[in-house]
Amino acid sequence: MAKINKDYTKLKSSYLFSTIARKVREYEAANPGADIIRLGIGDVTRPLTPAITGALHKAVDEMGEAATFKGYAPDLGYDFLRKAIADNDYRKRGCDIADDEIFVSDGAKSDSGNIQEIFGRDNVIAVGDPVYPVYVDTNVMAGRSGVYDESTGMWSDIVYMPCLEENGFAPQLPQGEKIPDIIYLCFPNNPTGATICKNELQKWVDYANEHESVIIYDAAYEAYISESDVPHSIYECDGARTCAIEIRSFSKNAGFTGVRLGFTVIPKDLKVEGVRLYDLWARRHGTKYNGAPYIIQRAGEAVYSEAGRAEVRDLVGYYMENASYILKGLKSAGYSAFGGVNAPYIWLKTPEGLSSWEFFDELLREANVVGTPGCGFGPSGEGYLRLTAFGDKDRTKEAVDRISNLAKTM
Ligand code: PLP
Repeated sequence: MAKINKDYTKLKSSYLFSTIARKVREYEAANPGADIIRLGIGDVTRPLTPAITGALHKAVDEMGEAATFKGYAPDLGYDFLRKAIADNDYRKRGCDIADDEIFVSDGAKSDSGNIQEIFGRDNVIAVGDPVYPVYVDTNVMAGRSGVYDESTGMWSDIVYMPCLEENGFAPQLPQGEKIPDIIYLCFPNNPTGATICKNELQKWVDYANEHESVIIYDAAYEAYISESDVPHSIYECDGARTCAIEIRSFSKNAGFTGVRLGFTVIPKDLKVEGVRLYDLWARRHGTKYNGAPYIIQRAGEAVYSEAGRAEVRDLVGYYMENASYILKGLKSAGYSAFGGVNAPYIWLKTPEGLSSWEFFDELLREANVVGTPGCGFGPSGEGYLRLTAFGDKDRTKEAVDRISNLAKTM
């Protein structure tokens, strides 16, 4: 008799986005013609840029010629892309990363979800709270979660590191009984938009080396960093080669959410129980993954061309203008708002006494603006709403004006 993986049945249904969609649908049905602005989406909206579409077209033509046709891509990525990544994202920033320490993939979601497979089931994991839900859910699927407590919204075997206003929404180094074996860090952060400076990140690296823990560093929003003391890579820290894995994406810098491309860096010096994680991840890739498509990898290479870099800067600049408008507008209207400086996310504190969902309802009803309730990202997200800068500029301004006007009536 077949058996299912019982750990999958433990997963909590992801009510967040389906509940948002239902509430918006119901509101629209009751208020036909309502002009709703969505600032809840975490997806980009601007089109691919000319350097990228040019590279895609060229690669498609190559695939149509016998002389240049490509079949399966190398499991770990084409050399041209691995070199472009290692040169531009790492060596130019003084990080010691070799071309072959880059593992090309179809995105940071897959990598951040799959990476736990190379670790034993008995590892204790630690996550920031609130957090990108993939880290928790994939560890639940793998049986590392323990029991769910409905009253706290937490799993018994997972270490939650609260990211609170008093600490600038940065997690604190875990102390006490449960020293985590695997620590997920995400900077710039989704959903809070928080970052930490290099000195602070160095403390995490030192902690991980001291306790023989591994940091999984999700830097999917690296391109949004605008402040000079914020590290772009964990490998800017001394000793990170022996304790850290870094995950990156082409989704939010170059707009590849529908194209799909990302990568993971595993230094060869990173060993657990004497075994190189590099070898385990290479084995996993070789066994379960047949490589990102040639066409897409050529598009990724174009991101690092002179034209590509300039276009990506503009693209990120467009969204960051929105972020800045949201942040400043809401603050001057009297709201407490955070993030938005090194990230496309604004973490908006709900007005006194309102829960995340109550404020969501109020914004929908009174301003026709949709955000994402912070409680959907973890218990410490209660009392916040995430707004994103990925929308159209004029619509974003209109939304901010409406939310600001609402403040006057509250
Ligand atoms: N990591 C974080 C923190 C994210 O917010 C997202 C997407 O929203 C991803 C990873 C997924 O990126 P990708 O599109 O490369 O799968």
